[in-house]
Amino acid sequence: MPTSNGLPAETIHVCGERASRPSDNGPDRRAEDVRPPRAFACRIISCMAAQPEPSLILSFEAARHLVEDHAAHLRPRGKELVELLEAAGQVLAEPIFADRNFPPFARAMRDGYAVLAADLSHLPANLEVIGEIKAGARTEDLPAVKAGQAAAIMTGAPAPPGADAVVMVEYTSRNSDRVQITRPVSAGDNIASPASEAKRGEKLLSPGERLDFAAIAVAASVGRSRLLVYSKPKVAILATGDEIVDVDVPPAPTQIRNSNSYSLAAQVQAAGAEPVLLPIAPDEPERLRELIADGLESDLLLLAGGVSMGKYDLVEQVLAELQAEFFFTGAQIQPGKPIVFGRIPCGRGRPAAELPASGPAYIYFFGLPGNPVSTMVTFELFARPILQALAGMPPSKLVFLSAQLRSEIKTKTGLKRFLPAVLFGEFEQAEVELTTWHGSGDIASMIRSNCYVVISPDRERIAAGEWVPVLMR
Ligand code: AMP
Ligand code: MG
Repeated sequence: MPTSNGLPAETIHVCGERASRPSDNGPDRRAEDVRPPRAFACRIISCMAAQPEPSLILSFEAARHLVEDHAAHLRPRGKELVELLEAAGQVLAEPIFADRNFPPFARAMRDGYAVLAADLSHLPANLEVIGEIKAGARTEDLPAVKAGQAAAIMTGAPAPPGADAVVMVEYTSRNSDRVQITRPVSAGDNIASPASEAKRGEKLLSPGERLDFAAIAVAASVGRSRLLVYSKPKVAILATGDEIVDVDVPPAPTQIRNSNSYSLAAQVQAAGAEPVLLPIAPDEPERLRELIADGLESDLLLLAGGVSMGKYDLVEQVLAELQAEFFFTGAQIQPGKPIVFGRIPCGRGRPAAELPASGPAYIYFFGLPGNPVSTMVTFELFARPILQALAGMPPSKLVFLSAQLRSEIKTKTGLKRFLPAVLFGEFEQAEVELTTWHGSGDIASMIRSNCYVVISPDRERIAAGEWVPVLMR
């Protein structure tokens, strides 16, 4: 049973009936209604084996926190040196220091005139122009500015000795070697003093930061053409289902093309990891077990489909046979209620001779419901923190925005809902409206949406105009 911090209290071996499992398609039913009891090799449950197995269906918040807690203990596998641009989107594995002061010299922040602020106490002031300073001008070529004088200066140029401010060109009028100034300035105005942004030797980036465009700019500005990054985690993706065929195979009338492997791969890539697509697993334990074993060679295993209530939803059974620990086997959410999260001791499913000498003790897995919308949503809601941790980043929290609901929503209580929606509006007026959708299989509804409206389990009706939480995609 998960402890209060969400981590497993202990592992015990029990043989017992399967706990009630949620279905992605209909109301909850007891699993024993539809199939015979099945033995579980290893589950994280309370130490009272004689008691019925506790439900592992958690509230959304409890399930999410549990994933975050596990993620907090995961570390990336390795590091590599890559070219600066290749590092974009990856996670930094070394600290980056300022190799010089930023700015390295007193830098003009505006086009205008370098002056002594004290000369502008009586306006308009009329000053002698003693020269012009371009960006890149050498220190030894800079004219010294004295009282009653000014130097024309361009943005990015070094401020000349003597001057303590730059007055913007907009407040000046030039007449040959004289300039008239109509606005006062204070000492320091429009000049960035040396080291005001960062001092030489100061740490600018830390290991664990994802290298976005701003971080790439910082690395470039300190002269780093190559960066040490954490190796991208490999994420095995295993779609299951007898009816599923791959994209190139012409589907028979009752077959469905595999879209989950590809949506997941795209999500994995966008999260900065490397997808490893496995062949589609049939609803047959032997082959499923082989493919799961292959998936355990990656850093994380994502299974799609086969975790619901159907007679041929075999994923959990096979995982259990591989000594899986299940941290939850459902969450009170829609879509995606049958989501499964757990881990398998490393090397399970592979011959002992092939076991790695070192490396992690466990491979984590998610069993995502196969309905395409459920697969996409549950990845976003649960898989991301584990991926971030394996990629070397601190796992992030989910952040909800707020928007005003355009049309009333009526729903049922009991589940936290993440409904595909469109966020629109202009300026500060954020509005949101649900997209029409026909359930968790409706891929097209996801194309029309750019966010999810989040509805708490106790709400039956939300009036138009109410502010609702929104999760961006
Ligand atoms: P399951 O979770 O296996 O019960 O599947 C639920 C629904 O999702 C079924 O209608 C499946 O045909 C569909 N489905 C399962 N896997 C995939 C997949 N890889 N691509 C597209 N649809 C899928
Ligand atoms: Mg299936």
